Amino acid sequence: MTDPVLGELAPEQVRVRFAPSPTGSMHVGGIRTALFNWAFARHYGGTLVLRLEDTDTARSTEEAYHYAIDSLRWLGLDWDEGPEVGGPFGPYRQSERLDLYADIAARLLESGAAYHCFCSQEELDERREAARAAGRTPGYDGHCRALTDEQVATFRAEDREPVMRLRIPDRTITFDDLVRGEISFQPEHVPDFVLVRANGHPLYTLVNPVDDALMEITHVLRGEDLLSSTPRQIALYEALRSIGIGNGAPRFGHLPFVMGEGNRKLSKRDPGSGLDEYVERGFLPEGLLNYLALLGWSIADDRDVFTMDEMVEAFDIRRVNPNSARFDPKKCEAINASHLRQLPVDELTERLIPVLQRAGLLGETVTAEQRALLADAAPLVHERITSLGEAVPMLGFLFVPEDAFSIDPDDAAKVLSSDGLTVVKASHDALGAVTDWSTPAIEQALREALVEGMGLKPRHAFGPVRVAISGRRVSPPLFESLELLGRERSLARLQHAQDAQTR
Ligand code: GLU
Repeated sequence: MTDPVLGELAPEQVRVRFAPSPTGSMHVGGIRTALFNWAFARHYGGTLVLRLEDTDTARSTEEAYHYAIDSLRWLGLDWDEGPEVGGPFGPYRQSERLDLYADIAARLLESGAAYHCFCSQEELDERREAARAAGRTPGYDGHCRALTDEQVATFRAEDREPVMRLRIPDRTITFDDLVRGEISFQPEHVPDFVLVRANGHPLYTLVNPVDDALMEITHVLRGEDLLSSTPRQIALYEALRSIGIGNGAPRFGHLPFVMGEGNRKLSKRDPGSGLDEYVERGFLPEGLLNYLALLGWSIADDRDVFTMDEMVEAFDIRRVNPNSARFDPKKCEAINASHLRQLPVDELTERLIPVLQRAGLLGETVTAEQRALLADAAPLVHERITSLGEAVPMLGFLFVPEDAFSIDPDDAAKVLSSDGLTVVKASHDALGAVTDWSTPAIEQALREALVEGMGLKPRHAFGPVRVAISGRRVSPPLFESLELLGRERSLARLQHAQDAQTR
């Protein structure tokens, strides 16, 4: 029996591609597309091609190119062929393949699969309006399909520059989508479309299928927004095959729309839609990817959290749900937090280093002492953060140089009133007498002095101490924090709080 996804292919013959148009920030829909292609390739032991569709020279900058590469690297989605790694079908940046497209366009023209169209924009608009008024489908009407030599000569004499269009066969185009099942398009909905502009510039409509054919892509997994271009592309793959390029259309799977607030398609303007935000907030790539996998796919009904290895093992494109998926930033955070909790402490420490460096709390070189302090402090925040960035305000007090330490003015106003300062002074005295600087000894000294000695409730006793030593009302557990801060710095800060507030 032939496999419903592979057909006659051996698993390792699978070739998929991720083909971003690098025009700026990567968004979650695009990352999900990359992820599903990656998981599909890895599941079968096939090949993932990265191809940059950067023929739109106005928008595709060198910066956008590097951004796309760096983003995929950050995510950990590796590719087997493409920019930076090479491969037998390169170059993999379309801007470096323009001669090839010109050559293929000329061959399509010569074979009769494509033709020149001399219609001006005004003429097209006029006829489109007329079709609409007459209740016909308004698409290109095939006006220039069969021009005589005289007609062509007349147009040329008028200095008209033609575009190139594909001659679409006059029949229903049907394909079996891996996600959505059989889909058919009637010919009136698949007009002869433009492949090459009048100025000779090849369009996405040409170069995307041409490269799929040349790069021997077997499966195309991409967003549902591209579904309407699929029948045209299928016609082009057939035309390419007729001139000896490729083997006809690949199999398609269209991934469901991602919806944002108010059940609208998630847009680049929606918060949480761009990759940068997750990088800045210190999400774990595996946490973000795990969440994005859930936009259309699931590993099991009762399970949301999994590793990328588990995803690769279980990934089945036929189990992708064709219904739109809802993007839920809260769930994304929760999944990321689960991945954070699963990290061993030394791994968490390593991952916190670049985050603290970006926040300016650690320098470029991290001393052994700083690393050890971070390793001791990491367990205190481990269960309390949903992203690495949240550790910055919590751990900042340990890494900030003493002369840059400051107390949040709002927190000081709330907690370091005169009563609060009395508590700070008492804690300073009590801790000054502690010689064995350990969490239990610190706790015992503070409880004796403040709770038993002054009869304070724990909240009133420890709140002012917390603000004085950490600068904020929210910090990791107090006694552990004091131990990590060390005797000298703790006492200095308790003194500083009194001096600063009474000044
Ligand atoms: N460059 C196209 C895009 O980013 C790729 C479309 C496709 O995957 O076929 O939308």
